[in-house]
Amino acid sequence: MFEAQVFTLYPEVFPGPLSKGLYGKALSNKLWGLKVINIRDAATDKHKTVDDSPYGGGTGMLLKADVLANSIDQNIKKGERIFYLSPKGKKFDQKLAQELSRDKSVSLICGHFEGVDERVLTTRNIEEISIGDYVLSGGETAALVVLDSILRLLPGVLGNEESSMDETFENGLLEYPQYTKPQIWEEKSVPEVLLSGDHNKIKDWRLSQSEAITRVRRPDLWQKYKKD
Ligand code: SAH
Repeated sequence: MFEAQVFTLYPEVFPGPLSKGLYGKALSNKLWGLKVINIRDAATDKHKTVDDSPYGGGTGMLLKADVLANSIDQNIKKGERIFYLSPKGKKFDQKLAQELSRDKSVSLICGHFEGVDERVLTTRNIEEISIGDYVLSGGETAALVVLDSILRLLPGVLGNEESSMDETFENGLLEYPQYTKPQIWEEKSVPEVLLSGDHNKIKDWRLSQSEAITRVRRPDLWQKYKKD
């Protein structure tokens, strides 16, 4: 079973959307498990303080090193990879999602306020990952994004093994356009080739569509695809 472990100040956020549909079913069938750890439980003073103001001044508060480190030390086994969701982290992508889906577990730390005391990140060997170039108020939504992208890659979760293979990013390209019934809708027909039953022709058409879309919308992916 794949174990997801989340450190947060807002445990009630989880599993949230991950309890719905196929993910919910997979959770009850123990294809994956979720442990949610309230960072506040590791606070030691009587007010359960978790944050304090930054040295050197500045607005906002930081998660305290001692509290977060306590929480981690009480819950992480030696050698496990730990990730801190952070806008200054390495960009999370499909490749990392695939890599993490092959591990036995993943541990994610959700920050809040202005972030966390840097010393925890270095002493506990924590890897920083960002879900994109924008700033969120907390790491919870980012953790849900990361988990969502990993879960769909776990064997058995989506049911149809193939359905995660053909998607955008899996082959370095954006996905081709897709159509379903009715064949004619608002006077627009679906592309003729898709009705031909000729699987090779369909494959070629889809690839050329994927390439055209990627070239226009994502020059960065296109350059990489052409080089590989
Ligand atoms: N002061 C920080 C931002 C803190 S935002 C900075 O300038 O880098 C508060 C929390 O939201 C962070 O601790 C982090 O866990 C989460 N967060 C914000 N943006 C994020 C992003 N793009 N990806 C992942 N986590 C993010």
